[in-house]
Amino acid sequence: MTSVTHLECSLCKKNFQAGKPWNLCECGGPLLVRYDLAQMKEAWKRDDIAKGPNSMWRYAPALPVVQPEHIVSLGEGMTPVLKAPRTAKRIGAKDLWIKDEGLNPTGSFKARGLSCAVSMCVELGLNRLAIPSAGNAASALACYAAAAGLEAHIFMPQDVPQSNFIECKAYGAHVTLVNGLISDCGRIVGERKAKEGWFEVSTLKEPYRIEGKKTMGYEIAEQLGWELPDAIFYPTGGGVGMIGMWKAFDEMEAMGWIGPKRPKMIAVQAAGCQPVVRAYEQGAERSTFYDGATTLASGLRVPKPLGDFLVLEAVRKSGGTAIAVSDQELVDAGIELATEDGIFAAPEGSACVVAAQRLIEQGLLKAEDKIVIYNTGSGLKYLEAYSTRFPRNAAGEADKLGGLITPR
Ligand SMILES: *Cc1c(COP(=O)(O)O)cnc(C)c1O
Ligand SMILES: [Zn+2]
Repeated sequence: MTSVTHLECSLCKKNFQAGKPWNLCECGGPLLVRYDLAQMKEAWKRDDIAKGPNSMWRYAPALPVVQPEHIVSLGEGMTPVLKAPRTAKRIGAKDLWIKDEGLNPTGSFKARGLSCAVSMCVELGLNRLAIPSAGNAASALACYAAAAGLEAHIFMPQDVPQSNFIECKAYGAHVTLVNGLISDCGRIVGERKAKEGWFEVSTLKEPYRIEGKKTMGYEIAEQLGWELPDAIFYPTGGGVGMIGMWKAFDEMEAMGWIGPKRPKMIAVQAAGCQPVVRAYEQGAERSTFYDGATTLASGLRVPKPLGDFLVLEAVRKSGGTAIAVSDQELVDAGIELATEDGIFAAPEGSACVVAAQRLIEQGLLKAEDKIVIYNTGSGLKYLEAYSTRFPRNAAGEADKLGGLITPR
């Protein structure tokens, strides 16, 4: 199975022993899982992968679980790479693809991270899990904890989408709504975890969610015939998926599966919460807390990502960029994508369509470039956000979408 050797602090490079529960390094740096890539290169060939399961666990040798029976899987990963021909034409792209992560369990790519993290909790004997979350991570933790028979304690802002609240309750999690932001939720979990005996699975404070999310990098390489695209558009909140994919590319190159070519990594944020864009534009290595963060793309409402320096490094080293999109634009783009190509995306995903259009117009990308957009979730999880465009009790508007008539 796995070839894990140790964990390494992404900031001070201190090493940590595998097979034990860890959160952050003492220096505040997130931990990255390291593998014996030379041994993996010998033992595991890319042509063997198709013999594995039709889920992200086909990449299990590059994942941290030691005993296969500890894997908690509900079929996450192996999501389709879809064409969106009308959208492509409208934005002037000739080779546009949408990686549709909305088809994962719980309707978002958070399933990948939490399938891996909960599997590791099973392996390490941790059975009371706690998370502060803006929404989709809570749903995914509640789901995988239920599948594993573990306790989930969830703290989320009281204004999270209804889908996330109902999912967590249905999965039997202990849910506390907080009259505040995700940062307040994080503080509460931090204060109470020692006394309650909770293991904290907050994003990047726990090392294995990155490993689950990195499978998006392995998967896109496999699905595109081991040739990475020219550009990847990634809706960036905490940036975990971007960090994970960037790590996956290095691992695959070390195993001889791909060459040195990297896609331009484009971090897409919401105009109302754009700490990474601001840091990128200022040439800074780290972001600063984004005051008054608001956006209805709740997955992007992360005012100070812990792994900001890793996201900025991937963006800069790859020759990519960081770009912000307004809420008005991203909701419009979500409806256009659904209408034109039958893909009902999360607003985080549709933001990337706007960003791609802008970069093509500006000449940073060519029409012929192979572009992959990550739609990180399903539009079905965001009914409140989309319903603002489709009022349905407007009597006398029977010809319009959602108009109401009373049959005789
Ligand atoms: C969490 C989330 C994001 C942001 O993910 P990161 O990898 O932390 O940047 C984007 N889109 C959706 C739908 C999410 O739930
Ligand atoms: Zn450190």
